[in-house]
Amino acid sequence: MCDRLQHKIQLPIVLGTHTITTRASIGIAFGSAQVSPNQLLRNSDIAMYQAKANGKGTFAIFEQSLGSETIHRMELEVSLRQALEREEFFLVFQPIVEMNNSKIRGFEALLRWQHPDHGLISPSVFIPIAEEMGIISVLDGWALQRACQQLREWKEKYPMLPLTMSVNLSSANFMFANLVGKVIQVLQTTKLSGANLKLEITESIVMKDPEESAKVLEKLQQYGVGIVLDDFGTGHSSLSYLHQLPFDGLKVDRSFVQEAQHSPQSMEIIKTIVSLAQGLKLNLIAEGVETDIQCQMLQALGCELGQGYLWWKPLVKNDADCILAKQVCAEQV
Ligand code: C2E
Ligand code: MG
Ligand code: MG
Repeated sequence: MCDRLQHKIQLPIVLGTHTITTRASIGIAFGSAQVSPNQLLRNSDIAMYQAKANGKGTFAIFEQSLGSETIHRMELEVSLRQALEREEFFLVFQPIVEMNNSKIRGFEALLRWQHPDHGLISPSVFIPIAEEMGIISVLDGWALQRACQQLREWKEKYPMLPLTMSVNLSSANFMFANLVGKVIQVLQTTKLSGANLKLEITESIVMKDPEESAKVLEKLQQYGVGIVLDDFGTGHSSLSYLHQLPFDGLKVDRSFVQEAQHSPQSMEIIKTIVSLAQGLKLNLIAEGVETDIQCQMLQALGCELGQGYLWWKPLVKNDADCILAKQVCAEQV
């Protein structure tokens, strides 16, 4: 039956002067009393994606014997494709503060996925899957748009606060080709200036194609957008491009911050990153600050901005809003 269907579907269609051919990938799943209707549909979707993976215009039959881990992963892939349409993503906002007075200077927007069956799924689980599936640019684009919309709202409500919004970009650089266009479009529609936005990238983006990255980053810089190197010190940390590329800041990775108290080596690494940032006139943000001791130590080394559970965990929009309102009240007193 699949063969017959595929044969019919593959027949060319003539549209005016064009001839179009289509193909279909077919996924098959068998029902039983133990399988719910939802599960049955999902199983057939899994089989369909397997058929696609096997080559175009083929069919595959869902097999329970795939092993529960593979099935779970495939289920995630299937539901990840639908999650945007179903509005299952949302952003949380983690304040970036001035360490000496805990005043909020900006937020980092972090993506969350509320899965209908599996609950809240961490970005460290779904971002790598989205990267492999080639859909990360769509997710990053969505996060960029939403984060900027949120900042516009806060700027209108709290015009006296000099807030910035930091947004993460995946190292799978699918989006790079039209990144500049997308950023400009978002800034225009949200009526923000580039200086309000910081894009967090990791060293692997730059390492993949230094020349192309330089062009893209320079264009973004012309629009005033800040480029921040995230998780600094954990990747290749090639120092040569640090002064060649237009970076605005560095984020000290939380692994160094958290080990510094117990590990003289981590402490030395932080010291080096601080003096590197000072020498190159880059902003420095310490990530993952959890204790007063860490905060004091970082300040003593000359680091001014921090982000971490010591101040706030990533917050849902309404909680972040309350905190901003309190900060405005406190500043007016
Ligand atoms: P990241 O950009 O380095 O974000 C910082 C991570 O550290 C966040 O994890 C945050 O919740 C966590 N964190 C902050 N303060 C503390 C602390 O004091 N202690 C501890 N233990 N953790 C802290 P999260 O939200 O799970 O995000 C993980 C990673 O997922 C992010 O790391 C980022 O690389 C990626 N990610 C998140 N949202 C997006 C997105 O919209 N696009 C892309 N491409 N990646 C994203
Ligand atoms: Mg980040
Ligand atoms: Mg980081």
